[in-house]
Amino acid sequence: MEQETIKKEIPPVMHMLHACEINVGELGSTVRKGTKWADRRGPIELCVCTREPENHTIVGAGVIQYVWVGQFGEMPARLLAMEHELSSRIYTGLLESMRRAYPGFAETELITVVVYKRTE
Ligand SMILES: [Zn+2]
Repeated sequence: MEQETIKKEIPPVMHMLHACEINVGELGSTVRKGTKWADRRGPIELCVCTREPENHTIVGAGVIQYVWVGQFGEMPARLLAMEHELSSRIYTGLLESMRRAYPGFAETELITVVVYKRTE
């Protein structure tokens, strides 16, 4: 029971290997490989990370508004248009960003698009 309480009080962290380029109050979308985020709702913390050396900086917070699950190549245009990394608002830019995070990433892979409102 105590573990459940802790889970509710500490929001999950959304890690990103690029700046969070939307402003407080705006809606943003982020693409996650796989379905780990498919059932997530509620508040999240926004973390900008580097890999070598590994570093994590919480830059803000948000609240999940909507989640879409499907193949990368079928991601709806209106979700692409609100990508929180501005260079990823076009398909080729987003694909490049995914391949930076996941070398060899294929367009047929299952993804979860998380739409959130930035609150901090
Ligand atoms: Zn991080």
